[in-house]
Amino acid sequence: MNMEIKIDNELLKKYKDNAKLYLGEIIGQSEYEKVTKGGEFNIYCCPNCGENQFVQYDSGKTAYVCLHCGIIEKAREVHFCSVCGEIFGPKDIAQIICDDCFVNECEEKD
Ligand SMILES: [Zn+2]
Ligand SMILES: [Zn+2]
Repeated sequence: MNMEIKIDNELLKKYKDNAKLYLGEIIGQSEYEKVTKGGEFNIYCCPNCGENQFVQYDSGKTAYVCLHCGIIEKAREVHFCSVCGEIFGPKDIAQIICDDCFVNECEEKD
């Protein structure tokens, strides 16, 4: 099965570079009850363009989208660093921490 997820271009245009608004209006409606008081949605650094506009595409978190460059990644192809929680890849599935943390970990061991 080859299920392609496509971002709605109108949506992308409307929320370009506005990840917070997207989460509030598109994801927020359905996710509202799951978010605890003061809880915030996560906005990540896009693995493609580096802008801080990479967010979950739908409330089920089946995919993530960058509201800057428009790249869309299936959730299973997106990897979160086990140390800092930032997204990295999808390049090396065997890797569990991002390059930054990997460097830090190595530097700490002196
Ligand atoms: Zn991007
Ligand atoms: Zn990290």
